[in-house]
Amino acid sequence: MVVVMEPGAKPAEVDAVVSVVEAAGGAAFVSRGISRTIVGLVGDLAVFETLNLPALPGVSDVVRISTPYKLVSRQNHPETSTILVGGVPIGPDTITLIAGPCAVETEEQTVAAARMALDAGAVLLRGGAYKPRTSPYAFQGLGEAGLRILATAREETGLPVVTEVVDAHDVPLVAEYADMLQVGTRNAQNFALLQAVGAAGRPVMLKRGLNATIEEWLMAAEYVAQRGNLDIVLCERGIRTFEPSTRNTLDISAVPIVHTLSHLPVIVDPSHAGGRRDLVLPLSRAAIAVGADGVMVDVHPRPEMALCDGPQALVAADLAELSTALTGMGRLLGRPPALAAVPAYRVLTRAAG
Ligand code: PEP
Ligand code: MN
Repeated sequence: MVVVMEPGAKPAEVDAVVSVVEAAGGAAFVSRGISRTIVGLVGDLAVFETLNLPALPGVSDVVRISTPYKLVSRQNHPETSTILVGGVPIGPDTITLIAGPCAVETEEQTVAAARMALDAGAVLLRGGAYKPRTSPYAFQGLGEAGLRILATAREETGLPVVTEVVDAHDVPLVAEYADMLQVGTRNAQNFALLQAVGAAGRPVMLKRGLNATIEEWLMAAEYVAQRGNLDIVLCERGIRTFEPSTRNTLDISAVPIVHTLSHLPVIVDPSHAGGRRDLVLPLSRAAIAVGADGVMVDVHPRPEMALCDGPQALVAADLAELSTALTGMGRLLGRPPALAAVPAYRVLTRAAG
């Protein structure tokens, strides 16, 4: 059961709902979104029915949710959410292009990739300082030094930063630097990590586990939401199938299905889905055609030298072509690029060029 508060509900009114539920032996989890606060109830529904919760001040609605996920369900939140990342929207009214290197390798490489992103019209910078690698002998990322490089790239370009956190203990540190915390496919059911990012006060990019069903993915999002954070963007990045010609199989049907089940925005990562540069553009087109709210792609100034995922990294010309294609599709769909929200200093940086 979920209690939906009125848009202007006061903190004391939310606290009163929590107290009433707790006094009746239930647990209440408060999630504050941009437009409204939702309180998820866990406990005996029959007891909750006797509490007359709709009559409490500040309560807009009390909804019985039939899905196992509640806070992220569209049932209690019919309009699609827009999540702001450093002022940049990800949601139904725009198409958001996120670009950057798979891994932060050096300051020079990261700033060059960030400038490629900026020049092509991307509005968020991606890049991993902590890399969850299949092999323990592969480059594991620069850690905090990488976070500092991302902060420099943000200063240089004005692009807010999305970066992965792989361990619950690192969440406070990564949150100091990041505008958005990414949980990767390998950690998509690391529940301690999901709870920690849920409490970190930053928007979260939640990748789909490589063997997760859509319901498992939404339950993972529910872990984040239950800790009070509804600023979640879901990222479809391909799932593991029997097909070896791509790195993963992009589950394109997941996009409209998730939009039906959940109010959270969905973006697609065609780079990690296909694992091939030549597939990034066609998979991106497919993503936007089925209603994705944006795409996130790998770029690298010298893909042949990349320490991670070079074969899927775009170069500047590819990224420009992708951006043009997305803008064209967005025009047809009435969804402009999320440029309007980019900070003024970005425009200055561009002019200074
Ligand atoms: C990434 O985006 O850098 C990444 C490691 O992706 P995934 O978790 O989808 O493999
Ligand atoms: Mn990668």
